[in-house]
Amino acid sequence: MRKLAPVARAAEVAGYVTLRDPGLVDRDKLRSLHNPDYVRAFITGKGRLAGSQGWDWTPQIRNGVLAINAGQIEAAHMAFEHGIAANVAQGFHHAHPERGSGFCTFNGLALVAQEFPQKWIFVLDCDEHCGDGTAEFTKKLPNLFNFSINGTNWGMYEGPRSICRNIKTTPDSFRDYKKALLEGFNCAREWKADLIIYQAGADPHIDDPMSSGTLNTDQMLERDRMVFAHFHKSGTPLFFVLAGGYQTPIEEKLLPLHLNTFKAAFEEYW
Ligand SMILES: [Zn+2]
Repeated sequence: MRKLAPVARAAEVAGYVTLRDPGLVDRDKLRSLHNPDYVRAFITGKGRLAGSQGWDWTPQIRNGVLAINAGQIEAAHMAFEHGIAANVAQGFHHAHPERGSGFCTFNGLALVAQEFPQKWIFVLDCDEHCGDGTAEFTKKLPNLFNFSINGTNWGMYEGPRSICRNIKTTPDSFRDYKKALLEGFNCAREWKADLIIYQAGADPHIDDPMSSGTLNTDQMLERDRMVFAHFHKSGTPLFFVLAGGYQTPIEEKLLPLHLNTFKAAFEEYW
């Protein structure tokens, strides 16, 4: 969570973005997406479920999460309007309907599908880990598709609208990664996706402590460029989120990787 403000400021200083404050999400939207008991526990900080995502609860974290989820809906509106947008946030792809998990509180990817029931929402999840929470939500939301490309098989969960492609760490990792990306592009086209949510994870990076060591800095940038070029050309609205990324110190190691995603988007869409 600490990375979000420095990344937002750096993207603004670089001229890649105009920032907008989304406010806090309407709690009724969370109550219809998740178990209301879980939502109440997280809002109040009381009960076992309040920390089910793995953090100690604080009012600051609660408000940060509510802003992140408001940003998901705002970014979707902006993507439909402009073709491209971002939420300087995580997608919270491990959050399940009944509880949080893996540092993820309320599933902001499923939230977009709930908010736009007439739109086909396709999640291209390029985090190091699979979006098991999102996969679970595909059972509940017929307009949600989850396509995960991951290095660590934590959270792999496949279903009728959830596909996981696990990339082994070999000298040919990036070739396999690009092949999986192309498969994801085809899948989005065949499913006639109306909106892409791109989880531009920085935790597949070779130096990330949570990574199996799949991609180097140049390959991550090429990944981002491929995604933006494809969906720009196809005319499919897209917004991205930062997703995972755990290197420290943040400013020195992690921030340049996330900033590269903004750079790639800016250069493609400008
Ligand atoms: Zn991750």
